Amino acid sequence: MSDFRTVTVVGAGTMGHGIAQVAAQAGYDVRLADAVAGAAGAGRERIRANLDGGVLRGKVTPADRDATLARIEAAGDVADAARGADLVIEAVPEDLALKRDLFARLADAAPAAVLATNTSSLSIAAIASAASRPERVVGMHFFNPVHLMKLVEVVIHAGTSEPTRDAVVATARRMGKEPIVVKDSPGFASSRLGVALGLEAMRMVEEGVATAEDIDRAMTLGYNHPVGPLRLTDQVGLDVRLAIAQYLHQALGDERFAPPALLERMVAEGKLGRKTGQGFYSWTE
Ligand code: NAD
Repeated sequence: MSDFRTVTVVGAGTMGHGIAQVAAQAGYDVRLADAVAGAAGAGRERIRANLDGGVLRGKVTPADRDATLARIEAAGDVADAARGADLVIEAVPEDLALKRDLFARLADAAPAAVLATNTSSLSIAAIASAASRPERVVGMHFFNPVHLMKLVEVVIHAGTSEPTRDAVVATARRMGKEPIVVKDSPGFASSRLGVALGLEAMRMVEEGVATAEDIDRAMTLGYNHPVGPLRLTDQVGLDVRLAIAQYLHQALGDERFAPPALLERMVAEGKLGRKTGQGFYSWTE
């Protein structure tokens, strides 16, 4: 199982195009597919733009850019693209019913493939149970932007087979990533810890412990975090963080994840962070 050659990426949006890029740069033959006509081709153009940027910065040679692009096929049909693939990585929107429906179809189209989901929060077991071979289903959680972020969470549910886990760990390494193996549990390792830190920082703002800037400085200067928890919340989007907090609160039954009133108020006021120009910081240039 570790000698994968062909990787199909389903969903050519923010994450899918980046996953296709790192897979092709690692030497896999890649098919990029999307339900929306033209989206796979547009994803391939985004990859070209990323690689052109890499060439300008001296990080990628023109020959590597061309070879990478030559390994990526923008496919027309999702089932056709999955047929014969060794690994299928799903990156469609965060909707359990949508992913379950897709995994049932992918398992039929590619019965021998490992099927990986890039979900950031959903239960891998719930997705896997829709596929005919749940032992071949695993989480492969990349981070945005995919070509720059080193982490991949390999999320295994109770039925994931050892060969599946090992093959995906090896593939992530070949893509230049640092994989960690995490049990299928709400928020995995990344979101559960990151959101806990962010929510506590918000409660500290509410209590007037220090300003948002100084709480962030405590973590950047005192703990060497590259970015403070409140600035990071602004970058991710307060609405996104609120949705994850609500999910973790309900799924873990843990009051630590109850969304602070400040977060709920800011979201209601449209202060969603960088994307709306205002969050814990002002983002107007
Ligand atoms: P996106 O909206 O940018 O892209 C999703 C793509 O899937 C779109 O191009 C859409 O046309 C396509 N699509 C929708 N339904 C489809 C179907 N049935 N078959 C094939 N294609 C379909 O979304 P995204 O931000 O790339 O997120 C994708 C997944 O990655 C989600 O599960 C998300 O939670 C996860 N994720 C996102 C981030 C992030 O920062 N955006 C980070 C880590 C994980």
